[in-house]
Amino acid sequence: MTDAPWRTVDRDYLSDEHRLLRRTAREFVAAEIAPHIEAWEEAGTFDRDLYKKAADVGILGAGYPEEYGGSGGDVWTQIVAWEEIARAGSGGVGASLGSIDIAIPPILAHGTEEQKRRFVPPLLAGEKIAALAITEPSGGSDVAALQTTAVRDGDDYVVNGSKTFITSGVRADLITTAVRTGGEGAHGISLLVIGGDADGLTRSEPLKKMGWLASDTAQLFFDDVRVPVADRIGEENEGFYAVMENFQMERLMLAIVAVITAEVGLEASLDYIGEREAFGRPLKGHQVIRHTLVDMATRLTAAKEYVYRVADRISRGEDQVTEISMAKLFATDTSDFVTDRAVQIFGGYGYMREYTVERLYRDSRILSIGGGTSEVMKEIVAKRIL
Ligand SMILES: Cc1cc2nc3c(=O)[nH]c(=O)nc-3n(C[C@H](O)[C@H](O)[C@H](O)COP(=O)(O)OP(=O)(O)OC[C@H]3O[C@@H](n4cnc5c(N)ncnc54)[C@H](O)[C@@H]3O)c2cc1C
Repeated sequence: MTDAPWRTVDRDYLSDEHRLLRRTAREFVAAEIAPHIEAWEEAGTFDRDLYKKAADVGILGAGYPEEYGGSGGDVWTQIVAWEEIARAGSGGVGASLGSIDIAIPPILAHGTEEQKRRFVPPLLAGEKIAALAITEPSGGSDVAALQTTAVRDGDDYVVNGSKTFITSGVRADLITTAVRTGGEGAHGISLLVIGGDADGLTRSEPLKKMGWLASDTAQLFFDDVRVPVADRIGEENEGFYAVMENFQMERLMLAIVAVITAEVGLEASLDYIGEREAFGRPLKGHQVIRHTLVDMATRLTAAKEYVYRVADRISRGEDQVTEISMAKLFATDTSDFVTDRAVQIFGGYGYMREYTVERLYRDSRILSIGGGTSEVMKEIVAKRIL
């Protein structure tokens, strides 16, 4: 199936180096992730040393500057790493490893040299885990309305409030946190890097979820947490723009994960229809099944072509706010469609935990919610095209 249309989309974009990384990442996933997925999904977490192992083979730091401990490369380097981890078929593992990819970029984009050198290398070495905390119990879509406060007291801020649904929230050592330092609205928000061991920070038990079972997701409570002013990223009250900017790459990551989730679901279905028989012939002999597979393959290929096109423009530094919103919208819708059809094709087995399509179906469902919901994507596009 190597020349299937969805499998050849990358030929226009990847260099030999990217392909080499893909091979390394694929071997890494086969050896270090795939054999443990069932156990990790059951446990609701995975061994912390996976971060270190992923760092050692250059996957965790893919696309990050070498001067801060990354393994270098570009946007495509990072995409290849995301894709191969997603191909393992456990959204939870990808989400937890990926929490550093949403926590670090604001530090690199807006931090001082001292902050970058202090915070980033231990994360890219897999020694520490990072999370990004934006969403609050009162709402996640309306970031400008967030309520967690940080009040200046000498050389510190004193932080009070709570965050919820935070990926890697249970065990993160560093938390890039959006807080209100000023008045109401977008102009009163700043970003602080808060240590996981800060006095006054408590965390919930891992939240019980529909999918992404191998990732820990937590609520965080800040009760008079003192955070040095020196740990503020960027200018005071200008954090909202850093949060919005950061969403662009998070949305690209989620669109890529959606495409790979659909791809794994499609390919599992293609294998299954050749093996399984009904009414005396393989499923693939039934026209309705054949046409369903064609619908799945067509939507996946179109989604992948578009997501890659947008990624390419992002890699060249172009403004793609409208396009990335469309890409996330379309790719996550495709992933929900394809994984839903995959479960149907597997029949009763598709509903069983031991079949990958069951997990893909559940894991797909978060992709149109996290990092900005589909409704929020539509609002962004509407504002720009209407
Ligand atoms: C497993 C998981 C992991 C997550 N990880 C993180 C993380 O690491 N860090 C983090 O900060 N957050 C994280 N989130 C939170 C996620 O980003 C939010 O759930 C999401 O942004 C939506 O916010 P909300 O849940 O508060 O929904 P709400 O904002 O309350 O929205 C509820 C509904 O109203 C709709 N809606 C809202 N506004 C509009 C509008 N203007 N027009 C039309 N419809 C609208 C939404 O689309 C949605 O359907 C995670 C969530 C989950 C479930």
